[in-house]
Amino acid sequence: MDENIPASVASSLPTRRELRAAVTHGRRARPRRAPATRSRRSHMAKRTKQPHARQRAFAAVAMSFVALLTISVSLPALAVNPDAPRMVTASDSPSDPAQTLTVGTGASVAVQRDGYTIEKVPTRAAYTQTAATYVNYLGAIQWPFLTGVPITTDFGPRSAPCGGCSTFHKGIDMNPGVDSPIQAIADGVVREVSETDDGGLGVYVVIDHMVDGELVSSVYAHMSEGSLTLEVGQPVKVGQVVGNVGNTGQSTGPHLHFEVLLDGTTPTDPFVWLTERVRPE
Ligand SMILES: [Zn+2]
Repeated sequence: MDENIPASVASSLPTRRELRAAVTHGRRARPRRAPATRSRRSHMAKRTKQPHARQRAFAAVAMSFVALLTISVSLPALAVNPDAPRMVTASDSPSDPAQTLTVGTGASVAVQRDGYTIEKVPTRAAYTQTAATYVNYLGAIQWPFLTGVPITTDFGPRSAPCGGCSTFHKGIDMNPGVDSPIQAIADGVVREVSETDDGGLGVYVVIDHMVDGELVSSVYAHMSEGSLTLEVGQPVKVGQVVGNVGNTGQSTGPHLHFEVLLDGTTPTDPFVWLTERVRPE
């Protein structure tokens, strides 16, 4: 594996001849470049219409800079955990955010990589489905998943999807894939748990939080059996894993049923509530 890295870096380096040819003739030395790089090159091409020596020298230096940029853009792709792509196989669509890993900036790669690997939580499966439904930020209040995931049922009135299911949906249903780790949305204390699947919410946990001086509770339901590790009265930190996505209770497939309860009792739309509060620091 080690010798591949220098080899691929080296192969991405244009030769002096290629650089000079690109400058003189206004064509690109390397065809496979990101759009940002391409626009820089077309600037270069314009500059070389009057081939003064100084301008050529400037262009050559600038092209070297472009080459360096090319390397630095390529490096994160090489640095990505080689196992990561396999962990997001189910969402390998062209619009999948994982596709941006190879061209993203260093900062966004670092954040996104955390969302797609299981390095932090080795005993749990990674998300198999992601979606651009929201953007999580690592602040005091977060979404129940590190990255955007499909949301299949919204908060509010609905036709009951199963016998015994309610006609008013008190939360949202989130679908990152079975066994995906679910995280606490804020610091808090565990109010209620069910370790066993006895219908209704199945294996679930309720956590009480104080947000802007008000009691707000979060509910995480239908978790997989054996995944819950919290106990009543236990303090919880934001981002702490509370359990895994499962299919316990009255559930028609593996998903997280997630509620936000104002004053600990009144359901509010979790999507709206979190969208207003999960912000960049
Ligand atoms: Zn639900």
